Amino acid sequence: MIVVMKTSASQENIDAVARRVEELGLKSHIIVGTERTVVAAIGEKRNGERETLESLEAVDKVVPILAPYKVASVETKPEPTTITTGSFTMGGGHIGVIAGPCSVESEQQILETARMVKAAGATGLRGGAFKPRTNPYSFQGMKEEGLKLLAAAREETGLAVVTEVMTPQHVELVGSYADVLQIGARNMQNYHLLQAVGEQPKPVLLKRGPSASIDEFLLAAEYILDQGNTQVMLCERGVRTFETHTRFTLPLATVPYLQERTHLPVIIDPSHGTGITSLVPPMCRAAIAVGCDGLIVEVHPDPSKAMSDGAQSMTPELFHSSMEDCRKVADALGYKM
Ligand code: PEP
Ligand code: MN
Repeated sequence: MIVVMKTSASQENIDAVARRVEELGLKSHIIVGTERTVVAAIGEKRNGERETLESLEAVDKVVPILAPYKVASVETKPEPTTITTGSFTMGGGHIGVIAGPCSVESEQQILETARMVKAAGATGLRGGAFKPRTNPYSFQGMKEEGLKLLAAAREETGLAVVTEVMTPQHVELVGSYADVLQIGARNMQNYHLLQAVGEQPKPVLLKRGPSASIDEFLLAAEYILDQGNTQVMLCERGVRTFETHTRFTLPLATVPYLQERTHLPVIIDPSHGTGITSLVPPMCRAAIAVGCDGLIVEVHPDPSKAMSDGAQSMTPELFHSSMEDCRKVADALGYKM
């Protein structure tokens, strides 16, 4: 249920409603909107709660939330959520661009990439230090050493660092270096991990599982939101279909579809979504045209030597020209990029 407060409601009125919600055995989330504040009351439905809440001071009305994902739903918060951390802003008409290698490989590789993507207009730096690899014998990442190199790259360029965390035990460690914690596609339904990143304060970039439905994706986001972390970005990175020409199939309709249902920023990963470098720039342009709030792309100084995902990584030069084209699309549609 959503308890919609009157525009005249004081902070005491709002706190009193939140307290009553908790007394009823429900979880309360106070959501401050531009027009008015609402208190979302989440939990198993019982009789009489609606009437109880409706009778409290400064309450305008109590309405049910129909979607299974409650805090993520536009019913709870119609205004888009904007996420700002360090160098980047995403959502509410701001397009954030996160670029960098699939994996952090060396000091020189990550610093050089960071400088070049920054010069081309990226607002965030990506790079995996803990890598979820399909094959156990593939490069597994530089781990904490890689996190230190990412932090050094932020130090020099000012770019916010986005990097993956694979297990609840590493949330504190990764959070101590990163600006945004990435939950990889393979972990989208790792509920303990979702709860662990929901309990810490840094923004979370949640990737869609390649075989997850949109409702499952939003419910995964809800696990994070339910722990009190409201800074969640949803990333479409392609799904598994019968098609074998591309690594995955990248459904761009996910962007407007999600935006009709959630206030959370929606970003596109055309690198993993296609698996083919030449397809990445056109899909970046298309993603902006359909209204995405951000992009995350792989860029490597020498893709032919990349330790992972070279076949889908752009050179810094290609990234540069791609960004110029993307800005034209963004300008034409009135997005800030
Ligand atoms: C990545 O971004 O490096 C990655 C492993 O992506 P995904 O989880 O989408 O496969
Ligand atoms: Mn990759």
